[in-house]
Amino acid sequence: MSSDLIGALIDTCAAAIVTHAEELTQLDAAIGDGDHGVNMRRGFDAIGELRGELAEMPAGAALQKAGMTLVMKVGGASGPLYGSLLMGIGKALGGGLAPDDVAPALRAGVESVKQRGKSDVGDKTMLDVLVPVTETLEGAAGAEVAWTPELLEALRAAARAGLEATRPLQARKGRASFLGERSVGHLDPGARSSQLLVETLCSRAGGES
Ligand code: ADP
Ligand code: MG
Repeated sequence: MSSDLIGALIDTCAAAIVTHAEELTQLDAAIGDGDHGVNMRRGFDAIGELRGELAEMPAGAALQKAGMTLVMKVGGASGPLYGSLLMGIGKALGGGLAPDDVAPALRAGVESVKQRGKSDVGDKTMLDVLVPVTETLEGAAGAEVAWTPELLEALRAAARAGLEATRPLQARKGRASFLGERSVGHLDPGARSSQLLVETLCSRAGGES
């Protein structure tokens, strides 16, 4: 991965988070403590400060360092969880960035989140987006050697469906679980930030932004 690409990915994701920080906070205000937008911004600000350094590193090492930064700098549940995701992906990523290379790395990252969060699909968390996206990529990876528009759209669709699936669920993990049945009927804020990042990365990979 060229250093330009890592820097560009950081910038694109950070911009998406800044644009949607208020929305993430509103979603968290409904079923949590209203800080998810702030936490995500803080995380991407901290990663942004390392932009130059990360851009000089191989992709896997850069992701691991970015993940450690989230664990250290972001309070709240989402910092350590997104940190585990990035560290898990980074550790498993070899040199390549084709779907076949990224699928097992994303799987490793998702398994790290499950372990750290003691959570899984159906708990109304970011995993309701991350797991179906991973499964969609795994399903395509053997056949697709490239990031085709069809594959990118399938990943975006899996993320959107996963996000929407959180609405009728009752939260079983995190602060939203304290609300019990009152968590039903709301989108999960972490699922929305995950879907937003998938949308952003897929659009960029498709040359749309
Ligand atoms: P906090 O809940 O500490 O205020 P945030 O508001 O930043 O942290 O993040 C909340 C999001 O974190 C939730 O919407 C959910 O997606 C995710 N989350 C919380 N707990 C878990 C968990 N145990 N496993 C997976 N994701 C979780
Ligand atoms: Mg919160």
